[in-house]
Amino acid sequence: MPLHSYHDQLQTLALTDLTTRAKSGILTYLCIWIILAFSYDLLTKFPAFFLINTLMVLCFCVLRISHYIVLTRSKNPDIAFLYQWLIITILLASAHWGAMSAWVIYDPRLIELRHIILVITPAFAIGGACTLSISSEIRTLYPLLMCIPFIGALFYTGDTESLVFAFMTTICLIYIFSSSKATHNDYWAAITNHLVAEERAELMEQLSTTDPLTQLKNRMHFDKEYNKEWRRCSRMNCPISVIMIDLDHFKQLNDKFGHVFGDECLKKAAHAIQNEVSRPADCVARYGGEEFIVLLPNTNPKGAYNIGKRMLKAVSDLRFEVDGEIIKMTCSVGGATTTPNFEKDRSNLIKDADSALYYAKEHGRNQFYSANQTDS
Ligand code: GH3
Ligand code: MG
Ligand code: MG
Repeated sequence: MPLHSYHDQLQTLALTDLTTRAKSGILTYLCIWIILAFSYDLLTKFPAFFLINTLMVLCFCVLRISHYIVLTRSKNPDIAFLYQWLIITILLASAHWGAMSAWVIYDPRLIELRHIILVITPAFAIGGACTLSISSEIRTLYPLLMCIPFIGALFYTGDTESLVFAFMTTICLIYIFSSSKATHNDYWAAITNHLVAEERAELMEQLSTTDPLTQLKNRMHFDKEYNKEWRRCSRMNCPISVIMIDLDHFKQLNDKFGHVFGDECLKKAAHAIQNEVSRPADCVARYGGEEFIVLLPNTNPKGAYNIGKRMLKAVSDLRFEVDGEIIKMTCSVGGATTTPNFEKDRSNLIKDADSALYYAKEHGRNQFYSANQTDS
């Protein structure tokens, strides 16, 4: 997987996780402010303090809610922009809280709020930094912006209690930095491992279903698809067709020009055959050495005939050059169609296509023969 793709996926995951973790903060912040405002009757006693801070709290809530709406509603969100938007809003809210708590400590008229602010501000700093430690900016700046004005105001006040609190909060800050660093590293290691594991599982799945030489699906995958489509067509009561293709006189080609050249021819033939199917449920697989099988769900004998003929032509149109000599290749094609049901033996359709292929071989090769002759 290219590096930028890894980076994009990690950023998308981080944004989603950060938004989920920050969601509860929107309400907590608002609720705590409402409780403070009502408990201490801030509107009546300190109208300027109340109005300025209520306006700020509401602004940040609106910014956070609109971020959430844009992220969840937009079909193609700009992840980098939304990530920055969220981080900046969270940091502005923490700076506001820091300034507000410094105001409380500094202004003697707000003495009633002092104790509650002394408890809430460090608690907010610890909670926010650890929960939102996904972002290194939030991990470091959130507690700093919240606590530095607060610590400054405590030092400025200068009484013993304030100085003790200032020192305690400083120690708390150091503790926050070290514990949030650990959670930050754990988070990024976990999502990186998750992506690597997902990518490996996808690769394993692809390797286990793909033929390494031709890059067509392998027989195991074909069998699985065949059973699945047989059941689906049985339920829908629609026809299902199978085409078998075998390259003509391929042994001679190998013997004359070598296996490396033979492999190239096989790859080109496989590619040409694959190009002739277009529906998502159609499946082209390598069935054996130089044999291919094609599954065509919801396809009647006429449709299978048209596709089989196109494949015949696609292979015979191929040209290979060896030492100035132009080599052509042909194949024989057998098709069979049935309307399946749950009682029918599903291996018969493949046997019929195989018999049709051998009929085509016996009758001169480079031709299509259908087991449902009346339709072809
Ligand atoms: P016919 O027209 O009757 O099908 O003749 P044929 O020579 O194609 O059939 P036969 O079954 O006698 O030989 C199939 C040959 O396909 C044998 C082998 O050399 C070749 N073959 C099978 N798998 C591979 C492969 O992976 N690579 C290469 N280069 N050749 C392969
Ligand atoms: Mg063969
Ligand atoms: Mg052959």
